[in-house]
Amino acid sequence: MKKFLFLSVLLIISTSCQNPDNSENTEIMPVATSDSEIPELLPLVEGKTVKNIIFLIGDGTGLAQITSGQYALVGPDGLLHMQTMPVTGFVKTHSSDNLITDSASGATAYSCGLKTYNGAIAVNPDKEACKTILELAEEMGLSTGLIATSSITHATPASFASHVESRSMEEEIAVQLLNSGAEVMLGGGFEFFSSQYRSDSLDLITQAEEAGYQLLRNKEELDNSEAEMLLGLFANDGLERAETEPSTSAMTTKALDILSRNEDGFFLMIEGSQIDWGGHGNNTDYVLNEVEDFDAAVKTALDFARQDGETLVVLTADHETGGMTLQRQRAEGDSLEIYWTTGYHTGIPVPLMAYGPQATEFMGWRDNTYVGKRMAELLNLGSLPQMK
Ligand SMILES: [Zn+2]
Repeated sequence: MKKFLFLSVLLIISTSCQNPDNSENTEIMPVATSDSEIPELLPLVEGKTVKNIIFLIGDGTGLAQITSGQYALVGPDGLLHMQTMPVTGFVKTHSSDNLITDSASGATAYSCGLKTYNGAIAVNPDKEACKTILELAEEMGLSTGLIATSSITHATPASFASHVESRSMEEEIAVQLLNSGAEVMLGGGFEFFSSQYRSDSLDLITQAEEAGYQLLRNKEELDNSEAEMLLGLFANDGLERAETEPSTSAMTTKALDILSRNEDGFFLMIEGSQIDWGGHGNNTDYVLNEVEDFDAAVKTALDFARQDGETLVVLTADHETGGMTLQRQRAEGDSLEIYWTTGYHTGIPVPLMAYGPQATEFMGWRDNTYVGKRMAELLNLGSLPQMK
């Protein structure tokens, strides 16, 4: 039996490793590193008080996604902003029913501090709603925000502020997001809020405005907004990277401006959603563009935290996507070939990085649930998991 299993594993490996001869995007040429990109790790922060947490999730972002982004953007001797975070560890990502998690159970491990089944949005394996770190923060008077480059109703942001048994229930998720109390929600997903598109014709846009949100549809409206509660829906579904759409960094800047007004602190989750989508498509250029956009948002978060001194920044992924790796088989000179081993997620652990007060709590090999539990404790929100 064991022998058979081993053989079948080998077979799968050998067939899926017949890497695309057809892909145009599998080679990258590392750029030269300029003086300004010579690595400098941020220092450890002595202070102990965690008033705010910025939690960054690179969906589908493993070591190969980060390293290929580094080579392409700042070269072999450089470091991306995310690589300047001084504390590093690893996260084990399996879900309650699968060694390979999806983004829903992956995000629920972070938001509720518990393992659940793939597809579950902030419910436990018995489909009972679990309290999220965002909801606890709201109860304690902190301000909260969600940023994504997918629709804001997509699995990762949804798992922080709604509870449904399947990630596909995005219309229901939209209803619940509006009742979450989150001050700032920025991403795509207009179609799940608009009566024009919803299957029940509910007009959540008007409901949102009545609840105090200003609706933002493009970058200019985001930049000019003076409101204190924002619902940014910059695309029908995921952001399309049109000129009129804000970057993740621009969304982060605006969110930090609003959330930091709260004397009691804030919790902000920022997702680089489409790094995962590039991985699903085995599309290297897509991944590199999304890593660049995400890393610029990381810089914005780190700059804020350095100034503030009481902000903890934690960065990780929910899982790796694509089985991406860097090799040199056919490429000539200094270029590297990107190989993909799957169009889905892999079970390989993902990197964990932290900067700010108490950052050293996030070193070592950690379960994904630990990250959520520890963030809640450090914000004095009590211990996870808790059922609703
Ligand atoms: Zn995925």
